[in-house]
Amino acid sequence: MEGIEASEVSHIALLVIGSGAAGMSAAVAARRAAERSGKSCSITLLERNARPGTKIRISGGGKCNVTHRGTPAELLEKGYLRPNEKRFLRTAFYSFTNTDLLDLLRSRGVETEERADGKVFPLSGDASSVVVAFEELLRASSVRQLFSCRIRSVERQGKKFLVTTAAGALLTADVVLLATGGVSWSRTGTTGDGLAIARALGHSIKGASAALAPLYTVKPPPANLSGVALRSVAFFATAGGRSVERRGDLLFTHRGFSGPAALSLSRDIGELFTLFGSVSLFVDLFPEQSAPELEEQLLLQARRNGAQMVRKFLQNCPIAPCRGTFAIAPHGTIPTALLPFIMRHAALENDVTWSGLVREKRQSLLAVLKRLPLGIVRDVPLDQGEVSAGGVSLSEVNPKTMQSRIVPKLFFCGELLDYAGEIGGFNLQAAFSTGWIAGTHAIDS
Ligand SMILES: Cc1cc2nc3c(=O)[nH]c(=O)nc-3n(C[C@H](O)[C@H](O)[C@H](O)COP(=O)(O)OP(=O)(O)OC[C@H]3O[C@@H](n4cnc5c(N)ncnc54)[C@H](O)[C@@H]3O)c2cc1C
Repeated sequence: MEGIEASEVSHIALLVIGSGAAGMSAAVAARRAAERSGKSCSITLLERNARPGTKIRISGGGKCNVTHRGTPAELLEKGYLRPNEKRFLRTAFYSFTNTDLLDLLRSRGVETEERADGKVFPLSGDASSVVVAFEELLRASSVRQLFSCRIRSVERQGKKFLVTTAAGALLTADVVLLATGGVSWSRTGTTGDGLAIARALGHSIKGASAALAPLYTVKPPPANLSGVALRSVAFFATAGGRSVERRGDLLFTHRGFSGPAALSLSRDIGELFTLFGSVSLFVDLFPEQSAPELEEQLLLQARRNGAQMVRKFLQNCPIAPCRGTFAIAPHGTIPTALLPFIMRHAALENDVTWSGLVREKRQSLLAVLKRLPLGIVRDVPLDQGEVSAGGVSLSEVNPKTMQSRIVPKLFFCGELLDYAGEIGGFNLQAAFSTGWIAGTHAIDS
């Protein structure tokens, strides 16, 4: 259904604002809760875009990593690095689990597959199948859906909410549920409207910052490295005497770095960047070996094969080998394109052999292999983040119901809240889970 006329004033029992993962989940849950308690109430889901689930459609590169394998406790442990976020999301994750989500999708014909790394995707490989399933669930739940309808303000008036659309239409609602998402990928409709509405209603908003975002460096990596991936390395950043680190795959891009390790560390790096202005990036190519262990192995190589060019050795050298498995290549070898970069940083001639590698130079190579400088951060672009950190302060929302502790009958769910999950399906699960309990409790409020 398209937008409402400015002259139309309608009253709604439950108004859900934002038809993303959280809003759709909330509306379906609300109808089920209403049916369980024998209440008949009007539920309306408003969306500024012309169709629902825009972000779901682009998630996981269009394949939608919809959730992650494991118990709720395991999901909380793996997906949320900050203790207050784990605490806040606990009830939601136990109340509406990954299994509940997959059962719901299966009830609408969406089968899923679990990958070796624990990520779960629709078997069809098509993210829009998740949206179609929720559209069917919404229709079956008699939820009134209005599209191309942007909400400008929500005010408390006595026991009701007065809601104004950008086109000037007025609505009243008994209960309002804000599910307007974060502030990254703003072209999908997430421009922070819900945060402004929450602030106007008296809530504290933690400033938005990038998470799961690529990193741009002052001097981009050499063009020939763009697209080169380093497997299972330790990627770390330092600033102001602090250091943050993540293990995983790292990808060189034409502007800097991406890949799981960079995306996962971007939130911490963004915070260092805000605090100190200058953040340096490094990679440890041998995270399983201490520097003395690695030096011992380099010395062994020099003794065994003095005539070998160091460059040749590195070319066949296993990258990030597991402890004690230096001689085999479980993760592939150091990419050839990276070798001149390593040699330059270690100030080594291209054709230096092990026997020509005096102690100083060996130390320099060792230092570079353990701490290869990757540049200085220029930007952690908020809008490019798969999610944004920051949002409605968690301390002002009841985690058991998602109801505001400040404004009665106002509920929040999804990325609008001040949490940000890891890559791997944790953010969609959090949106579906918080949406589900918000919708359920909105009916009882
Ligand atoms: C490129 C990309 C890939 C991603 N991949 C994954 C992945 O594979 N797995 C994963 O778990 N997470 C992924 N995420 C993150 C995940 O998509 C989000 O965390 C999740 O969709 C958030 O759900 P939400 O319902 O809270 O917000 P959203 O899905 O953003 O929905 C909010 C909705 O509210 C609407 N809205 C906003 N303001 C108004 C207003 N004033 N009036 C009316 N409507 C309004 C918006 O148009 C939007 O449709 C990805 C994100 C991006 C950007």
